[in-house]
Amino acid sequence: MIYLDHNATTPLDERVRESMLPYLGPLYGNPSSLHRLGRIARSAIGTAREQVAALVGAQPSEVIFTASGTEADNLAIKGLAGKLRPGVIASPLTEHPAVTGPLDYLSRHDWRIQTLAVDAQGSLTGDSQEAWEHPDLRFATVMLANNETGVIQDIARVADRLRARGLYLHCDAVQAAGKLPLDFHRCGAHLLSISAHKIYGPKGAGALIVQTGVELEPLLHGGGQERDLRGGTENVAALVGFGKAAELAKSELDQRYAHMLRLRQVLESGLASLPGATIFAGDSERLPNTVQFALTRIDGEALVMALDRRGFAVSSGSACASGAGEPSPVLLAMGVEPDVAKGAVRVSFGKDNSEEQVPLLLQALKNILADFGLNRAAG
Ligand code: PLP
Repeated sequence: MIYLDHNATTPLDERVRESMLPYLGPLYGNPSSLHRLGRIARSAIGTAREQVAALVGAQPSEVIFTASGTEADNLAIKGLAGKLRPGVIASPLTEHPAVTGPLDYLSRHDWRIQTLAVDAQGSLTGDSQEAWEHPDLRFATVMLANNETGVIQDIARVADRLRARGLYLHCDAVQAAGKLPLDFHRCGAHLLSISAHKIYGPKGAGALIVQTGVELEPLLHGGGQERDLRGGTENVAALVGFGKAAELAKSELDQRYAHMLRLRQVLESGLASLPGATIFAGDSERLPNTVQFALTRIDGEALVMALDRRGFAVSSGSACASGAGEPSPVLLAMGVEPDVAKGAVRVSFGKDNSEEQVPLLLQALKNILADFGLNRAAG
């Protein structure tokens, strides 16, 4: 199987697995215990906190560990809402369900959600003046890089607008971490979410980076862990793995970026010669590893399954939405026709894909077009 679905999840890096093993074995202490085993676990989490902070250019004291990117998004959004007077939250329709879910929840509890417009290329437009100037605006949540299209938003610009009014910004950087250089303080967001399993770390670990001084209402009340913001005995092995994955992502970032961009470029130039292929947000600044495209008149899920039979793992729309059979809300928000959006498939490369795999994928796509009787320019 040639795995081309790294935005859904990444394989565990062997070096990460090695780093975790002692904490699944003899080093099983509870980080809250005073004895030696407890101190070893506590110190391991401290190291992981430093490694994760370094990946995003934050202070270790600003890292709050969670069990997922979804939990980090929920803690940011519901946590801020819990400390503020109910009002308006601004957000684009292109956000991940980990963000739209808590927003839907808050919209049933005294909050109003104001949509930020995106253009045909998936970028925030200047058309959302009403939202930015709303007198009851309290905060905004805007993702750095989109999981489906890979489109990168100008977060610093959004942050400037909000900071000028003393308002907050949460940024979901789950897809950006490990693929783009990140600098928490420079980007201007007050809160930033990341997740371990998107950067060759284990599933079940994430983090919310919280700027010093920003107050949040915890989702989980308990034993005072994570500065009282996330009660519960820590998943030490997973956090150690997260730390190691973050360290590797930082030290190998440039090399991974250049490699994945090369694969993306080879794929995109090959797609240009296929009849009726459309690359979504093709003119936007995008993640180096992500290509979302459609082949005219082939349903996205049918294409995913046809590729699966030929040994390629890709995704239709976002992983969470696949199987739902509905066109992607992200593409609809960009003004893509529902019929075209239903054809969307996403290829997301990883650090261990090779350049030789790309022509194999292109050949498989050509064979599938031939099977569908669509191998000549669409008329
Ligand atoms: N945010 C984005 C942009 C994502 O792509 C994902 C996962 O696909 C999440 C949040 C959720 O992260 P997790 O799978 O760790 O809950």
